[in-house]
Amino acid sequence: DEARAAIARHTRLVADFPSPGVQFKDLTPVFAEPAGFSSIIGALAHGCPEVDLVGGIDARGFLLGGAVARDLGVGVLAVRKQGKLPPPVRTVSYSLEYGTAALEIPADGLDLAGRRVLLVDDVLATGGTAVAAATLLREAGAHVVRVSVIMELAALGGRATIAEGIGPDIEVHA
Ligand code: IMP
Repeated sequence: DEARAAIARHTRLVADFPSPGVQFKDLTPVFAEPAGFSSIIGALAHGCPEVDLVGGIDARGFLLGGAVARDLGVGVLAVRKQGKLPPPVRTVSYSLEYGTAALEIPADGLDLAGRRVLLVDDVLATGGTAVAAATLLREAGAHVVRVSVIMELAALGGRATIAEGIGPDIEVHA
């Protein structure tokens, strides 16, 4: 309830961003509230099945993912936008409304085989980003068991896209 109240009170709604006709939900002010941040972190971690890694999606997912990992007592991995990590990297490209984007994780220096992962992000929209992140982790041998977000834009069908793209077993927690 505290998380819901903080989200309702502090989310900034921005018209026509990033493109005309889209209303962007900016959760940045929620993060900046002491009670807001701690309550959303608690909500993201709540009821999480056993995992041994949290994947935070670039960039607000980094803030959230680090805090959730600390709460759960597990490690954290930054799932980054293309071009930020030193080689070698694993890359998965995905389509956006206009054009494509790509996410990357290191291809060396960490063993992801058999790891159970909680993916964390601020907003679930079409689901394309979450599917790309989960695909990347699966290609590295890990298994994403849950996607936790603060806000789901249900009209965009992200849940169905995740079920189709990753499998029906994955839990979507919003
Ligand atoms: P999707 O791939 O369409 O599900 O978009 C989700 C990604 O875009 C996430 O990484 C979000 O941070 C970002 N995103 C999409 N819409 C919004 C929004 O309204 N507010 C904040 N982030 C958004």
